[in-house]
Amino acid sequence: MTVTPTQPTASHFVDGAYLEDTAGAEIAVIYPATGARIATVHSATPAVLEAALTSAQRAQKDWAALSGRERGRVLTKAAELIRARNRSLSELETQDTGKPLQETLVADATSGADALEYFGGLAASLTGEHIPLGEDWVYTMRQPLGVCAGIGAWNYPTQIACWKAAPALACGNAMIFKPSEMTPLSALKVAEIMMEAGAPAGLFNVVQGLRDVGAALATDPRIAKVSLTGSVPTGKKVYAAAAAEMKHVTMELGGKSPLIIFDDADIDNAVGGAINGNFYSSGQVCSNGTRVFVHKDIKEAFLSRLSARLKGVVMGDPLDEAVNFGPMVSERQMEIVLGYIAKGQAEGARLVAGGNRVDRAGYFVAPTVFADVTDDMTIAREEIFGPVLSVLDFEDEAEVIARANATEFGLSAGVFTRDFARAHRVIAQLEAGSCFINSYNDAPVEAPFGGVKASGIGRENSKEAINHYSQVKSVYVRMGDVEAAF
Ligand code: NAD
Repeated sequence: MTVTPTQPTASHFVDGAYLEDTAGAEIAVIYPATGARIATVHSATPAVLEAALTSAQRAQKDWAALSGRERGRVLTKAAELIRARNRSLSELETQDTGKPLQETLVADATSGADALEYFGGLAASLTGEHIPLGEDWVYTMRQPLGVCAGIGAWNYPTQIACWKAAPALACGNAMIFKPSEMTPLSALKVAEIMMEAGAPAGLFNVVQGLRDVGAALATDPRIAKVSLTGSVPTGKKVYAAAAAEMKHVTMELGGKSPLIIFDDADIDNAVGGAINGNFYSSGQVCSNGTRVFVHKDIKEAFLSRLSARLKGVVMGDPLDEAVNFGPMVSERQMEIVLGYIAKGQAEGARLVAGGNRVDRAGYFVAPTVFADVTDDMTIAREEIFGPVLSVLDFEDEAEVIARANATEFGLSAGVFTRDFARAHRVIAQLEAGSCFINSYNDAPVEAPFGGVKASGIGRENSKEAINHYSQVKSVYVRMGDVEAAF
């Protein structure tokens, strides 16, 4: 592959070293801000996958035999190395994704480091229980699953690799990670850093490829668990494939989340929440609050503040730290988003801002706001995964809760109000896994993250993730004689 000093030196990272196999199909890596090819990787061949699986199986056994404290020390060291290299990792992430460096410096490698640090700290305290039963007793052991597969989306490549690897490795598993074919580079740097931090060769392997490589991992009997971050249609396929082998799964999928703004909300904060929940990473965030329900009495005030704040958008080369709004990850994603914008207009939504491709190199779509959106419109029902905010009117609390829940998705939800009793009452009734009160899209590693309904199964981050990367063995211990019928 073509390289710059900060880029990885081969397509895959397997058994502790970079690995190339040019027999695999070429995958072009494009800088979304210019459309220029910045690297080429090759899809994993069966030989690469075999090497990844064999080395991961071997490494997992040795790794699981270490104490939690020893495993934790490696993860903590990896976190330290990531933090020390944050700038170069962030620059690579920006080239891979097109997200502004202003964002990647604070939200990508740093978030990966947070996960490694958190689960590194937790590794030594993963214990079982002692359950007394009179004279007899039961004890439980929390054991690893084995070799886990991680399959990533393209919006947060470093973060996704670390959010999956950190709890998996803390629990004594190995991981084979397949990044999205759109953004294959940064996970390789994570693998390099894991080795440098002291992980055994093969413990965290990275293999490239399209859906066929993901599917090969999901169906291989040597994989004990599949953790996917991706769309709902992909999730259904991967979940079904995993079920055929009774594998464990974590599914972090898409959303069409409601953000409800009541008439007593602090409007500037609500507008800030709507901006964070629709335009950060140019809207390519799964948990985005893309259905913004605004009480009809404050709708025009909300729209005028939002329009004023949009004047603060700075578009340009995402590597320029002054830029705060980048392109779509690919030409295809840009076309998808523009298609939804056209549907919004055709179905009668009122375009308040944006609505167009930006006249410059790369795949920029202007931040777009629609008002007068109704529940039946395509832009209110389907995940767009771009900078398109839809404002829907409401008047009544019960009505807005019912409408917010009338979706197959259930990833996130947010409420802005000064009435805290109402905030808690409404949040409790919203069908979503990751919720916010007077805020939007915060994702600290300490908080469980994941969806309900079609948005997913399982949780990432927090102590919850441990339950999804380990299994409990119970052992009954009889202290006296065994009674038997004959
Ligand atoms: P995608 O579903 O197209 O692809 C996700 C990954 O799955 C890629 O690595 C892809 O190669 C792989 N894949 C595709 N088909 C497969 C198959 N049949 N078997 C195995 N692997 C397969 O998603 P995307 O376009 O990369 O990402 C955008 C989607 O991801 C959005 O729907 C977004 O909401 C979701 N997402 C969810 C979260 C979350 O945590 N809930 C986070 C980020 C993105």
